[in-house]
Amino acid sequence: MSDKIYDFVIVGSGMGGLVTSVTLAMEGYSVLVLEKNHQIGGSLQVFSRDKCIFDTGVHYVGSLDEGENLHQIFKYLGIINDLNIHKLDSDGFDIFRFPDGKTYKFGQGYEKFKEILKNDFPNESHAIDAFCTKIQDVCTSFPLYNLEEDSPQNYIDNPDILSENAWDFISSITEDPILRVILYANGPLYAAEKDKTPLFVLALITNSYIKGSYRFVNGGSQIAKLLTKKLRQFGGEIIKHQDVISANYENDHIKSVITKEGKEFFGKNFISNIHPKRTIEVFGEDKFRAVYKNRINKLENTISSFMLYISFHENTFPYFNCNFYDYNTYNVGDVVNYSKENWPEILFSCTPVPPKDSKYAESLAVMTYMDFNEVAEWSESFNTIATKNRRGETYEEFKRKKEEVILKHLEVRFPGINKAIKNVYSSTPLTYRDYIGNEDGALYGIKKNSNNILNSTINPKTRIPNLFLTGQNLIFHGVLGATIGALVTCFQFVDNKYLIDKIKAAN
Ligand SMILES: Cc1cc2nc3c(=O)[nH]c(=O)nc-3n(C[C@H](O)[C@H](O)[C@H](O)COP(=O)(O)OP(=O)(O)OC[C@H]3O[C@@H](n4cnc5c(N)ncnc54)[C@H](O)[C@@H]3O)c2cc1C
Repeated sequence: MSDKIYDFVIVGSGMGGLVTSVTLAMEGYSVLVLEKNHQIGGSLQVFSRDKCIFDTGVHYVGSLDEGENLHQIFKYLGIINDLNIHKLDSDGFDIFRFPDGKTYKFGQGYEKFKEILKNDFPNESHAIDAFCTKIQDVCTSFPLYNLEEDSPQNYIDNPDILSENAWDFISSITEDPILRVILYANGPLYAAEKDKTPLFVLALITNSYIKGSYRFVNGGSQIAKLLTKKLRQFGGEIIKHQDVISANYENDHIKSVITKEGKEFFGKNFISNIHPKRTIEVFGEDKFRAVYKNRINKLENTISSFMLYISFHENTFPYFNCNFYDYNTYNVGDVVNYSKENWPEILFSCTPVPPKDSKYAESLAVMTYMDFNEVAEWSESFNTIATKNRRGETYEEFKRKKEEVILKHLEVRFPGINKAIKNVYSSTPLTYRDYIGNEDGALYGIKKNSNNILNSTINPKTRIPNLFLTGQNLIFHGVLGATIGALVTCFQFVDNKYLIDKIKAAN
């Protein structure tokens, strides 16, 4: 136990927690980050098998071209020059394949993006222009996304923009059923649901990938490592294996947090990088107003995922400098609500960057949706590196069967793949639940719903005067979303104009 009273105690070392911690430490505050896991980074964590590094929650990241928002923020944080990143193909970084053999691509840069689509849909030039204009326009409603202090159409003054539905918008600009599908086909990046996903979520994410899509060589955990190094350089501390389970109060203010092992850490302010529902449990159900608790507890999470991690025999499987979205249906807006018989309706596959620019991949990561209910019967089990347990033989059998189904599908999309495979590993919604600490292994935290958007919007302030939130649930998810969310949290303590100017000055 330490008697030190930190200016900030941050619970969770995900992308949001780390960016918040470094930003505040750079402003001279004393900061302590507490992480329950063995590895720092939340969804930035990696693991290694057969000498291959596998990412668990970051396969590619957008907005990393020089001058783009994430590039600028990373430069300000002092990590851009040390990141080992690899740009995906400009003339097709995302490839969408359908059961009839048809293939479509997204290109990087708006010119390339339009050129490729217009080639595929020569009569839809107007709709493709309208799509690009609109998503860029929506992005200008989020001034911080453009590293601006304000904009004339700020979403805070014009909240209607938040309720526009993505699929409805796409349907309004084109009658072509296939173009509609293609403009929505990167949906797994935001767990797209036709009747719910707001246009702003599609816009912020699609725009970012058009503006510089990169893979992290040797995994996304390098972001966490570099941010940790920066935090320490600025006097901040980070302690692993600290599962925060409760808080002590003094006059309605939090005085300290307590870990599972009974350690106590004192602070003036506390920032939670964990899911808002779990935040309420940890910081005390009785401390939050019933209305707030009810609202948070009713929020739906995004669906979870099943991941397959494949290692290959040497020089057997090609490296692809792009991602594949293999659909078994043209009904892309409903694959989240898959039927068990048709599972998997979508497979997202990507080959991590091989060493020394080899033309062969060492491994492949494959993601598909999986509802938590499919693994509910093993939900009493808990298994992480920090707390090792086995979930039992029936669970292993479940995983094996799911792996087999996916491998069959992969053989159709990548003929010969099965011969190249050395080993197969997999993770389920339970894996994500246990490592990230949310209740159902949600891919991207709280679901944004265009029918009730204000309800699914999370404020960094809470009713407890010295408790604040950060991370993917504030504005949007992803490495970029959690980073922008972290800046929003920091604005509670650091003047926003001052901070934005500082980011710009660093570039
Ligand atoms: C399968 C998958 C694929 C993805 N692919 C991409 C991608 O390709 N590109 C992209 O940009 N984004 C991707 N994402 C999303 C992205 O990784 C996340 O949106 C982002 O990393 C979330 O950051 P966060 O700040 O919300 O923290 P989280 O990653 O949610 O981390 C929360 C942290 O809090 C810790 N914690 C929880 N409870 C406690 C406690 N009680 N005490 C102490 N610590 C605690 C957890 O251990 C964890 O470290 C993917 C996500 C998943 C799951």
